[in-house]
Amino acid sequence: MQSSKGHLLITGAAGFIGSNFVELVARAGYAVTVLDAMTYAGHRANLENAIKTGHCDLVVGEIQNRDLVDSLFQRVQFSGVLNFAAESHVDNSITGPKSFIETNVVGTFTLLESAKQHWLRMPELMRQKFRFLHVSTDEVYGSLGETGKFSETTSYAPNSPYSASKAASDHLVRAWFHTYGLPTITTNCSNNYGPRQFPEKLIPRMILQALKEESLPVYGTGTNIRDWIHVEDHCAGLLAAFEKGTPGSTYCFGGNSERNNLQVVKTICAVLDEMVPRKDGQKHEVGIQFVKDRLGHDFRYAIDDQKAVRELGFHRKYANFEAGLVQTVKWYLDNFEWMEKVLHNERKHS
Ligand code: NAD
Repeated sequence: MQSSKGHLLITGAAGFIGSNFVELVARAGYAVTVLDAMTYAGHRANLENAIKTGHCDLVVGEIQNRDLVDSLFQRVQFSGVLNFAAESHVDNSITGPKSFIETNVVGTFTLLESAKQHWLRMPELMRQKFRFLHVSTDEVYGSLGETGKFSETTSYAPNSPYSASKAASDHLVRAWFHTYGLPTITTNCSNNYGPRQFPEKLIPRMILQALKEESLPVYGTGTNIRDWIHVEDHCAGLLAAFEKGTPGSTYCFGGNSERNNLQVVKTICAVLDEMVPRKDGQKHEVGIQFVKDRLGHDFRYAIDDQKAVRELGFHRKYANFEAGLVQTVKWYLDNFEWMEKVLHNERKHS
C-alpha cells in the first residue's frame, strides 16, 4: 500500500464516521488497515473507494480479540491507532447492554494493551510520533438544561448504557496515558449527520421513511435538543487532533447548530418537499407521529469547541445544519435501494 504519511490502524471504519474518515486520510496520503467486526452497522461498500484505490485493506474481526490485534501490530509498524469501533445506538443499549460493555469497554481495553506493547518496542523516533486517538461522544457528559454547553472540563455524568460504556472507555484511555505514558488523545463530539449513517439513527431513518411516505416517528414531543455536526467537519477535527493534538488531552467538537428533534424532522420534510414531493400532493410533514419517549432520554446536548479552535485550528466547512442537509438527503436518495436492503437484512437477523 502507498503511504507517504504513515500506516494507520483504524477500527470500526466500515461504519458511518470511520468510513468518512478513511476517505479523508486516504486523500491525505496515509495507508490504512481497517479492523471491523462487520456488525449490522459495518459495510464493505462503505470502504469500496479506498480499497479500490489501494489505500486501505480490511481485516474482519473484533477489537476485543487480543491475538488478532497483536497479529496486526506484528505485521505492520502502525504509526497510529484510531478507535471508532463501538456499539453506537442508544436504543439498542437499553434493550441489550451486554455487547456495549464487550465492545466499548473490553474492546478499548484490549486495543490499549496491545498498542502499549507495540509502542514500547518501537524505535525512539517512531515512539515519539505514535498516537492512539479514541473517538468518543458528548453523551458522556449527561444532559444539559436550557442553558450552558459541555466542554473538556465538564464532569462526566453518563445516563444511558451506551454513554456509560463510552465514559468507561474514555477513563481507560486517560489512565493508559497517565499510568503508562501511552500518547493518547480523546475526542468528544456531538451528533453527526451525513452520508453513510446506518438508517436506525434519526436523520437517515426520517429520510427513508418519508421517501416511502410512511410514518415519521418522533420521540415524546420532539423537544430534545442536539448539536448537529456534519460528519466531514467531525472527521477534519479528528485528523487535526491526531496530527496536532497534545498527548493526554481531550478535545470537544460540535456543530454550533442546536436543533430540537421536531425542527430536524420538519427541515428534512421541507427539503424533500422540494426534491421529491409526495404523490398525494400533501407536505411530507403530514407523516409526523409522536411516539412514547425513549427511557431516560437526555434533554439537551451542546458543545463549546473553543479549545479545538484555539489549539487545533478547528473550523467547520458547513456553517450550520441546513448547509449540509441537501447534500445529505441527496446521498440517501442516490443510495435508497441499497439502504433499504441493508435495513431489511438487519431486521431479518435481529
Ligand atoms: P457505527 O455504528 O456506524 O459504526 C460502528 C462500527 O464499529 C461498525 O462498522 C461496526 O461493525 C464496528 N464494530 C462494532 N463492534 C465492533 C467490534 N467489537 N470490533 C470491531 N468493530 C466493531 O458508528 P458511528 O456512528 O460511525 O460511530 C463511530 C464512533 O464515533 C463510535 O465510537 C461512537 O461512539 C462515536 N461517536 C458517534 C457519534 C454519532 O453521532 N454517530 C457522535 C460522537 C461520537
